[in-house]
Amino acid sequence: MNLHPLEGHREARAAVAGAAARRRLPQALLLHGPSGVGKQRFALWLGQLLLCAEATADGPCDTCQDCRLALRVEHPDLHWYLPLRKPPSKGSRERDDEALEDARTARIEELRAQPLQPSHSDEPLGIHLGTARNLRRRASTGPAMAARQVFLIANAEELVAQDASPEAANALLKLLEEPPGHTWFVLTSAEPGRLLSTIRSRTSSLHLSGLPEEQVFRFLVEHTNAAESEARKAARLSSGAIGRAVGFLPDGDDDGPLEELRKESFRLIRDALSPRGRDRFARALDYRPSGARGLRELLGALELWLRDLSAATTAPDRILNHDAADWLVRTAGERGLHPTRLAQGLDLVQEARAQAAGNVNPQLLLAGLLMELHRTLVPKSSTAPGPVGAP
Ligand SMILES: [Zn+2]
Repeated sequence: MNLHPLEGHREARAAVAGAAARRRLPQALLLHGPSGVGKQRFALWLGQLLLCAEATADGPCDTCQDCRLALRVEHPDLHWYLPLRKPPSKGSRERDDEALEDARTARIEELRAQPLQPSHSDEPLGIHLGTARNLRRRASTGPAMAARQVFLIANAEELVAQDASPEAANALLKLLEEPPGHTWFVLTSAEPGRLLSTIRSRTSSLHLSGLPEEQVFRFLVEHTNAAESEARKAARLSSGAIGRAVGFLPDGDDDGPLEELRKESFRLIRDALSPRGRDRFARALDYRPSGARGLRELLGALELWLRDLSAATTAPDRILNHDAADWLVRTAGERGLHPTRLAQGLDLVQEARAQAAGNVNPQLLLAGLLMELHRTLVPKSSTAPGPVGAP
């Protein structure tokens, strides 16, 4: 089965294909942009472009043997490294490295069968030291079939976050500094600020921005089983990122992972605005006392509610959480919310999000944040809110 076509990003494609045609494409590239915006699909396209025997300034030909293999993610010189759950130890370094390679192959197999995946995952995934060793070994053997070999490294910021091992990063840094003549590296990151500065300084970066909402909607209708109404809602919430939109679509009878986070973050904003302090503490105690990294996406979802409350006070037609528009407008009125104070609230959430990347207690982090949000957002004189509705 072929990958779905690369959607949008026309300017970035033209820049890259033009540079490749002039033989000026840097050998170590960093694609960055919002989560779910299409960085993996773009990186795979870039790999295809570099392997294509007939590439032009317009891009890969899509028909040569290299292209056909790359489009099925089966090209022997296209190596895709993704964050993985660490397999249990097998007792020796060699066997652990093999287990990681097996896990990588299995993951790519899954993605071949189901390439369109939500950008959010609850699993603790990392790029482990053994993976960096495997990659270095692979890079030293040279291309098997094409004139070049291409290494795609997804979520490159995970190279330090999981193992906290500078060794893993160093193995890769040596390669990035002096890539072998026939070798290209394409790193991707939604959080380039978390990358090692040495990785940033050794790569040429290219930003991918969100697509227009209508384009996301059309893509979902064409490439997923979603009903038009579901696709419309998901596109609106996606910030122009197809991978995010997919996370808002239903997953069988369940909510998609981002839809779950949206509902969970709604309960946070509702409790932050509640006149009863005990609601905030009870909410914070719902969380485990460790593992704050999982909160980062939740806090990202909370930011959207603050933006929507701000829209509710000034331009309700810009509300993204459509199904909660009535609640947002009513609450903003009843609680006397003001855009300036909501902007301050947004700063508080972003600070908490930065803290969540470190080793903090999620209960304390949330209890503190909800209390601060309440103090910042709600002027003392406002009346109690009415009954709570959607979503
Ligand atoms: Zn081709």
